[in-house]
Amino acid sequence: MERDHSAMLETSLDGLHLELLHLFAYQAAGLQMPLYLVGGVVRDIFLGRAVNDFDLVVEGGIASFAESILKKYGGKILVHSRFGTAKWILNESTFKRLDFPVSRFPDFELSFDLVSARSETYSQPGALPTVERSTIDDDLRRRDFTINAMALRLDGNHYGELIDPLGGEADLERGTIRVIHPKSFIDDPTRIYRAVRYEGRYGFQIEDDTLALIPDARSIIAELSAERIRHELDLILAEPNAASMLARLTELDLLKPIHPVLFFDESANSRLANIGSFRALRRISPWNLDRGEGNKRVLGWLLWLMSLSHNDIGSLNLRLQFTSDFLASLFATSTMFSTLSSFADITPSQCVERLSLYPLNAVEAVYFIAPDEKIKDVFFKYLAEWRHVKPHITGDDLRERGLEPGPRYAEILRRLRAAWLDGEIKSTEQESKLLDKLL
Ligand code: ATP
Repeated sequence: MERDHSAMLETSLDGLHLELLHLFAYQAAGLQMPLYLVGGVVRDIFLGRAVNDFDLVVEGGIASFAESILKKYGGKILVHSRFGTAKWILNESTFKRLDFPVSRFPDFELSFDLVSARSETYSQPGALPTVERSTIDDDLRRRDFTINAMALRLDGNHYGELIDPLGGEADLERGTIRVIHPKSFIDDPTRIYRAVRYEGRYGFQIEDDTLALIPDARSIIAELSAERIRHELDLILAEPNAASMLARLTELDLLKPIHPVLFFDESANSRLANIGSFRALRRISPWNLDRGEGNKRVLGWLLWLMSLSHNDIGSLNLRLQFTSDFLASLFATSTMFSTLSSFADITPSQCVERLSLYPLNAVEAVYFIAPDEKIKDVFFKYLAEWRHVKPHITGDDLRERGLEPGPRYAEILRRLRAAWLDGEIKSTEQESKLLDKLL
């Protein structure tokens, strides 16, 4: 099908990004430097998805292109000539020079990555490649799948020209994930996980010849660094369809090669299947936990792995090298999960004693999956209410009453807190009387 690519560009990008794209195109034309929009953004434009970020590739020296942008529009440029990359960070003065209203300047860092077209060679399977400056054609051939290996040229009269040497557009129409050459998964087995992610995200199919390349690459998965494999799993766990992607990884036997304790069974599926609604619920939950980008992924990991034993978690950590915060959360979810039924008949103070040992994101994850309404209610009350209950009497009050500082302080304050939580006392007078008794 013949498409009007420039019209597609105009409709897929928001106003600000489109104006910035035109600026890059104009600047590149002035330097007679071919400039391309590449990779996932072209794929998403073709799929009619909204895009608000893009990757740009120039054929030629990145430094001169970056300098011309800096000279004309200000901001800040960080150039890595050795890698052929540059990052342009816009500031408010850039907006003034561009005649954009400063009120449109976003509250996050607005930046664009500019890259020189390059080719890659792999000296060793699974390792990072050696990179050399090259043409757009080579740059597309080093990519993972045909659907990610298209470029739209932007400079001057070439605006909107499609570069598609590998049949990406046709594969996109067929809904096919296809590697670019038969050694692709051996060079970089993270691509197998990427393939499964795109399959699940777009409802596509990995093409048969590509599927047939997986067995030969399976043994190389063990050579991937912890960081690279964790990154791929992070990306999967951030997707709304994470459950079906993990099920597909299991079907293709791609979890065990990462580590033998990794599994995805019916029960993990039911924990993760509602991750989209958990995330929505989280946004309106009253307990105000950290909603950062990292934490979004953490929830997915915890829902998936909470049924592992402490031993298995320890062993998995040797392979994936989790951060210490995440590891603490994972151990905590595992403990809560394996003792879940004991939370059904528990007093508020016992609940606080137990749950206050754990990171809040772990408690939250278990709250989401608790199968029993009574247990769910206990976790909900802890998160929303109980954890905030404190005695009115403080350490200073105890000192004023003449108590020698020591472990008794914590004991008494804990006892008073428990009394408030369990409704044994309901006013400061009652609290004071209880303290008299304890002293
Ligand atoms: P997503 O929507 O998942 O972020 P994306 O295509 O933007 O998709 P990135 O991970 O940002 O994905 O990568 C940008 C581009 O770089 C991809 O479109 C692909 O062309 C290329 N790429 C990324 N990872 C690899 C890889 N492991 N091997 C080859 N090419 C890759």
